[in-house]
Amino acid sequence: MNGLGNALSCTLFPSPCALCGCVIPEISEAPVCAACWSEVPAAREHCCVRCGEDLFAPVSPTDPEAGLCRTCRMAPPPYLRAVSYGTYDGSMRGAVHMLKYDRVSPLARRLGRMLASAIAQLAQDADGVEDMLVVPVPLHRGKMAERGFNQARTLATEALRELKKTHPGWKLELSARTLVRQRQTESQAGLSPRQRRANLRGAFFVSDARAVAERHILLVDDILTTGATARACSQMLMKAGAASVRVATLARAQRMTPAMERDTTKYVRLSVPEQELANSWPDPVLH
Ligand SMILES: [Zn+2]
Ligand SMILES: [Zn+2]
Repeated sequence: MNGLGNALSCTLFPSPCALCGCVIPEISEAPVCAACWSEVPAAREHCCVRCGEDLFAPVSPTDPEAGLCRTCRMAPPPYLRAVSYGTYDGSMRGAVHMLKYDRVSPLARRLGRMLASAIAQLAQDADGVEDMLVVPVPLHRGKMAERGFNQARTLATEALRELKKTHPGWKLELSARTLVRQRQTESQAGLSPRQRRANLRGAFFVSDARAVAERHILLVDDILTTGATARACSQMLMKAGAASVRVATLARAQRMTPAMERDTTKYVRLSVPEQELANSWPDPVLH
């Protein structure tokens, strides 16, 4: 659209940013303003090399298990590594909720590009990365019928579209039916780590073991909150004979420092009830 058309349509139909409410001065691909996009919280600085949890301190070079969080030291996850684009907070939290609950499909393209850049971090890994089977974390069919789409699959599709351009040598194949959620799980909110594991036990199965046998798998989801889902899915994929599992999510939930907890003013108005947010937030103790 030319400049005049752009200006006119904005004058006639000013579209507010769905996150902060400001009027977006230009036609944009999604109803989110540039300021909100620029405030998407980046990944934390000192993270566990395995699961991405914030360690809140630089790694000591003398520690043989340097770079691993307490959970990964005590109970190593069945996946090799989990990468994320940013932290599940602020405008990222708002954007993910909009995608999930308001079905704002133009958002998927932008968020998919972010997921693609998280996946591109895996290029540092030794082998298997350029030829992966991409498996979105599935929804239970009841949830799927209610929501109408699986946001993990939508994001994976958009990310693969982007990676085709940025990493033309990679051979990434989407496989959305290989992993199945056979049981609708209860909300994880308020459950202890042990209860979370029990809640997810038997929730997933691999429908076609031949499809994953000896393949390097990239498990994709929108957010990684406690890591329990990523562990449960990876375990089933490994049991079915996968060569390895890596995990990529758009955003990772992190514990907040006291300073962050005080600074909640810039955070966003959401079109979902607070209860939904509470349900998606991780156990503040150990996960
Ligand atoms: Zn905004
Ligand atoms: Zn860890």
